[in-house]
Amino acid sequence: MSDDIINNTPKSVAVIGAAKSGVAVARYFLSRASRVFISDVCDRGRLDGILRENKLDGGDLLESEAGGHTDKILESELIILSPGVRSDLDVLKSAANKGIPVWSEMELGYRVSAAPFLAVTGSSGKSTTVSLLASAMKAAGFETALAGNIGTPVIEVTPPLSEKAVVVAEVSSFQLEAIDKFKPKVAAVINLMKNHLDRYACEDDYYNAKKLIAKNLTMSEYLVLNADDSRLSRWAEEFKGQTKIFMFSSRDCGGDCVYLSGKGINYRMNGKSGVIIEDTAAMRIAGRHNYINACAAAAVALCAGADPKLIGRGLCEFGGLPHRLELVGEVGGVSFYNDSKSTTAESIECAVKAFGSKVVLIAGGKDKGCDFASIVDSVRKNVKSIILIGEAKERMAAVWDGVAPITKAATLEEAVDIAFKNAVSGEQVVFSPGCSSFDMFRNFEHRGDMFRETVNRLASRKAY
Ligand code: ADP
Repeated sequence: MSDDIINNTPKSVAVIGAAKSGVAVARYFLSRASRVFISDVCDRGRLDGILRENKLDGGDLLESEAGGHTDKILESELIILSPGVRSDLDVLKSAANKGIPVWSEMELGYRVSAAPFLAVTGSSGKSTTVSLLASAMKAAGFETALAGNIGTPVIEVTPPLSEKAVVVAEVSSFQLEAIDKFKPKVAAVINLMKNHLDRYACEDDYYNAKKLIAKNLTMSEYLVLNADDSRLSRWAEEFKGQTKIFMFSSRDCGGDCVYLSGKGINYRMNGKSGVIIEDTAAMRIAGRHNYINACAAAAVALCAGADPKLIGRGLCEFGGLPHRLELVGEVGGVSFYNDSKSTTAESIECAVKAFGSKVVLIAGGKDKGCDFASIVDSVRKNVKSIILIGEAKERMAAVWDGVAPITKAATLEEAVDIAFKNAVSGEQVVFSPGCSSFDMFRNFEHRGDMFRETVNRLASRKAY
């Protein structure tokens, strides 16, 4: 990709935000002998610690500021904004007035990449979908780099790739707020739900940030959208004359699409049709939401030119991500699933519907004010008994009163013990909190790890 700013490496770059992607950007430019100025709101001690840990300190080319963002940022030729930092900062308005480009790390990673991007955004299921997609593209023989919001900064993987490789990128709305020429070969928006209202003034601002993924697409690229989502179906109409549209759905929605067909996943594209997966039971991850994520991944892979049979093989090989309906142990014939990533009522619903029979549910945590009443029917139908923990337990118990037997537990350990007693051999205990983790744990990963350890301890107690 020819690019003046990147080809003539900028002499000075400001990096706003010293988290993972900011650190990666600083490293990239320092290795090219640019001067780098890192600016973060954290205190000086913490910033120095980050620079030290990442071995960025000590050189002449790096300067930094802590405790806020000053106009010193405007002395740079290019500004890279981290996803955790708001794009409406005053200093960024001044940058725009002075004509200094402000890019997200996604834009930078794209600019330096010879390999085309397959970019996925949406409200729920992004990490699972990009992981399925990377597995499908690898199975189809493509050299594949998986990066973005899922964990690895894009700038760490794209520089050495050739144009024959593909970058599978999980893209957040925050990264999309600061794109310029970002033009994926295939862009997908997998669903839209209310989210991030702490950062956006209203729902529409959030959806419009997601829409930016398609802003540079032309008739040479594809936009993949979910036909089950009414807003995304409207986007399909809106973008029809600008780019190629390809849909996925939980049912045959007509036209070119990938869809759930009875037991399997089928496709129709450019006059051809066929099977991607005969029976979703062959997949290693369960749950209708995951089969729909597989449809989304297959749709993107087809648009990228992968072979349908090999896509199916790759989708079936994918073993799931930690903390998303992850099987962490079996004790006395009872299976324990860690779904700690679940922080909404909708996620509890996905989890309890993923099994063919009634489950024992452990839920609760820090109350985000989710609407647990909206999933009462699914809980009644799919849950045998409920154990509640955390700050939200009283409110959840009141909302689900009479839906299934409920016990309140003081600790996760106690909850696991009660759940084990409530379940019989062949049944599943599912830990799907539907709340954030900050009342009892550092983050959802810590919470899931604690659940896994608790199940392991139960297993060793029962082994004697
Ligand atoms: P993200 O990266 O968007 O946060 P993940 O793949 O990590 O998404 O999944 C997080 C949670 O979102 C899952 O545990 C599940 O509860 C829910 N989820 C996953 N896929 C979907 C989907 N297609 N529709 C609705 N909810 C989903």
